[in-house]
Amino acid sequence: MTLAFARRMWALDCPSLTVEAVTLMYGLSGMVTIPMPSFLIEHPKGLVLFDTGIAPRAIDDPVGLYGQEMADALGISSTPDQRLDRQIEALGYKLSDITHVISSHLHFDHSGGHHLFPQATFYAGQGELRFAHFPDPLGAFCYMPDELAVMRNFTWREVPGVDVDLFGDGSLIILFMPGHTPGELSLKVRLANRTFILTGDAVHLRAALEVEFPFPLDCDTKASLQTLRRIKRIAEGEEASIWITHDPDDWAEYKQAPACYE
Ligand SMILES: [Zn+2]
Repeated sequence: MTLAFARRMWALDCPSLTVEAVTLMYGLSGMVTIPMPSFLIEHPKGLVLFDTGIAPRAIDDPVGLYGQEMADALGISSTPDQRLDRQIEALGYKLSDITHVISSHLHFDHSGGHHLFPQATFYAGQGELRFAHFPDPLGAFCYMPDELAVMRNFTWREVPGVDVDLFGDGSLIILFMPGHTPGELSLKVRLANRTFILTGDAVHLRAALEVEFPFPLDCDTKASLQTLRRIKRIAEGEEASIWITHDPDDWAEYKQAPACYE
């Protein structure tokens, strides 16, 4: 196998949520504002999205989409330019250029834009699609039946409980990281100058990774703990930078579109 690199990676700007910090990690207090980004990756064999964030409609009308109680609890803050479709178009791409969508999991804040890419091939971790339709009660509010119904028509590839090398060249490795949900996925992106592990919701905050605290709403706490340790081990072994999707410090530290990593 000849190893290659992904060409460029952009973190796309996004709305934020303001929630009670204790909902993200035991022991915290006060409120925390967290990003909900997607990542766009250019590779010679395709244009890949890792997650699609919150539904564009939620930016215009969060109460209409989620109801007053949930909209209040989420504290969505956004501008129209943060819509995923506008973010992609601002970089000079068409929505129809997207060839692959890797879905870390199917919670509403990671899959709300999936419907924009009906031509793409979608990747979900083993068990995620079934669990999304019959979730455990505790986290069921994170799955949107109307959005899932649209996704039924897509082309899905299930990542079969092991890591998958998307293009067979070592540049994009889909990492099976169960615990938050049964089919949680992270993505290792190997660029010429830097390697990232995009965690999805395998972990929510850098502090949680350091002290190895699973997320309070994880469906399998024991698996989550193993996943946290595995992320650290891979990052150490490969000198990769960990980018935690919802961590506000990571969002502030790393480059955002239109800047990119190469
Ligand atoms: Zn989630």
